[in-house]
Amino acid sequence: MTNKKNIKSTFSITASQMLEYLYCPRFTYFEYVMDIPQNEGQRFKVEKGRNIHEKVRKTNPEYLRKKIGVIDRKSDVYLASPLGIRGIVDEVLFLDDDTAAPLDYKFAEYKNKLFKTYRFQLIFYARLIKDKFQISVKKGFIIYTRSKNKLVEVPLKDKDFIELEKIVGDMTSIIQNCRYPKPTSVKRRCLDCCYRNICESTI
Ligand code: SF4
Repeated sequence: MTNKKNIKSTFSITASQMLEYLYCPRFTYFEYVMDIPQNEGQRFKVEKGRNIHEKVRKTNPEYLRKKIGVIDRKSDVYLASPLGIRGIVDEVLFLDDDTAAPLDYKFAEYKNKLFKTYRFQLIFYARLIKDKFQISVKKGFIIYTRSKNKLVEVPLKDKDFIELEKIVGDMTSIIQNCRYPKPTSVKRRCLDCCYRNICESTI
């Protein structure tokens, strides 16, 4: 409930809220305009994964950072941007080429591909870092804790930041104008959607 109040009064969007929007823009409408919460069971699973991940992270060795030219770092940094986004970045890395990069831990195995959700989270955190520290961000990193802390570098381009701005703009417009957005184009998502009974796109 607190989240909903915050987003309506300040339009400050979190990475989780962005991921819900990317799954289906109507999630943003149902949850933050209509105040209809998502399935609580899903939230529990996310929380549980996060707690395990925290434990693993504390035991994670430092050696990985040396490989990527880190000269300084900050952990669990709360950042907010004038763009209207906010969040806690696992690690902000300051690199020896005068750039910075977000590092995100995933309690997951590496499957030889980068999920769109992981990529967008990095772009989101990168924008927070750019705005807060006024520094160039050209890449991000993910550590897959269930693949022996495999480190993956993800290049970030200007077009990624432009796309993020479009997403945030659309989410803000849905919430501010109470605009009912188009449904997801991925129809199979509707099959087990918690909003399927109230959404006209239910198949
Ligand atoms: S039923 Fe489909 S279109 Fe409607 S909110 Fe769920 S995923 Fe989106």
